[in-house]
Amino acid sequence: MQWDEFAEWGRKISEWASDYHQNIRALPVRAQTAPGAIKAQLSASPPETSEDMTTIMGDFERIVMPGMTHWQHPRFFAYFPANAAPPSMLAEMLVSTIAAQCMLWQTSPAATEMEQVMVDWLRQALGIANGYTGVIQDSASSATLSAVLTMRERATGFTGNAEGLSEQGKIRIYCSEQVHSSIDRACWIAGIGQANLVKLPTQGSLHTLDGDALRSAISADRAAGYHPAGIIAVTGGTSIGACDDLEMIAAIAKDENLYTHVDAAWAGAAMICPDLRRGLWEGVSDFDSIVFNPHKWLGAQFDCSVQFLRDEKAQIDTLKIQPEYLTTSREDITNFSEWTIPLGRRFRALKLWFLIRSYGLEGLRTRLRNHVVWAQELCEVIRQTPGFFITSEPVLSLFSFRCEGDDSVQQQLVDAINDDGRIYLTQSIWQDQKVIRLQVGQFDTTHEDVMLAHAVIKEIYAGMV
Ligand code: PLP
Repeated sequence: MQWDEFAEWGRKISEWASDYHQNIRALPVRAQTAPGAIKAQLSASPPETSEDMTTIMGDFERIVMPGMTHWQHPRFFAYFPANAAPPSMLAEMLVSTIAAQCMLWQTSPAATEMEQVMVDWLRQALGIANGYTGVIQDSASSATLSAVLTMRERATGFTGNAEGLSEQGKIRIYCSEQVHSSIDRACWIAGIGQANLVKLPTQGSLHTLDGDALRSAISADRAAGYHPAGIIAVTGGTSIGACDDLEMIAAIAKDENLYTHVDAAWAGAAMICPDLRRGLWEGVSDFDSIVFNPHKWLGAQFDCSVQFLRDEKAQIDTLKIQPEYLTTSREDITNFSEWTIPLGRRFRALKLWFLIRSYGLEGLRTRLRNHVVWAQELCEVIRQTPGFFITSEPVLSLFSFRCEGDDSVQQQLVDAINDDGRIYLTQSIWQDQKVIRLQVGQFDTTHEDVMLAHAVIKEIYAGMV
């Protein structure tokens, strides 16, 4: 492709993007294709000769688009949205145009310095104490793995990387039973093992890790010869929005000399609203590591996960490796690839700069507050609907419910709703029962979209009974 052709296609694709987003409500939220249907339309072997862009783009619309689930659909109430506000998309277009690999300061000083400033903007916005630094990762899973590896190295006197795990089967990490599966996976990969991730019961309306159980587990483990290494808290669990008491956990960690990490992957965005922090965020600045995903609720295009660090040294001592081909002659700079697992790094900070400048924190706060209010209103309407029960109360914008009937009926309802296509919902387990989860968090969602969810749920349920 020649660059003048590139400019023309760039214009066409921008127009396509704008039309797509303006007409997205007419599309079914979840892809309605059968398994294998897209693959069957793709050529099984690569072309030997060039094809023109008009044909490629035509095939994209004809073959690919029907197989897409529309994550930017305003009636996406499943999982958590991976939002992409338009300014952040534009920034990503620039990033993919420049296509820099920003592993070291010198491989693009602007990327490193922008990342330092964006992490600090978000630190201020989230009310985290001055002095924290941080790094932008691809996902919360990677940030959590980095924190778990740091827990392991700190607990082994930073010998694990060099010598392997002589403490294998001995290191213990503590969390509640409401944490995301990325915590389990981090413990597998770090060589700690599922058996040494101690999951403790929760209590109260926020499904908070039980502090007495935590203290007892740590002291029983020490007596049995285990080596407690860290505690992982959650602010906004995935299933039902569990929020731990961060002050309490930080106090226990201090007494026990344990490293702490809090996973606020989706709920962290709401902490830019001081009013929404109340009861959820106190004590956060006593944590060693904090992760939240601006690519979820805040509106930065996927992927973008910010990990704040009270003292970055422990993580750098865990992950830094410096062969000659990566050394640079300057000492007065930051090389962010030394803070994370992958060496290669995208320029993720630019989309934060575009996003935050374009809406201002107050614009972003208004959206988040609306989502919380609308989720609460929808919850009340579902509560009043005959045949429905609320199973977990809203935590920020997430709640769960059931209809009359056993677990198979709940799944049947979820599947029928998603086959209908007007809204998209998913399920989870709470108190050993299948529940239907609903979160409000898509960037362009309106009050009308949220209330339409009630009409669809009620109508589809009525057709089932
Ligand atoms: N933690 C929580 C609480 C989540 O809800 C999720 C995903 O929804 C994750 C971690 C995993 O996030 P990521 O896909 O960025 O690894």
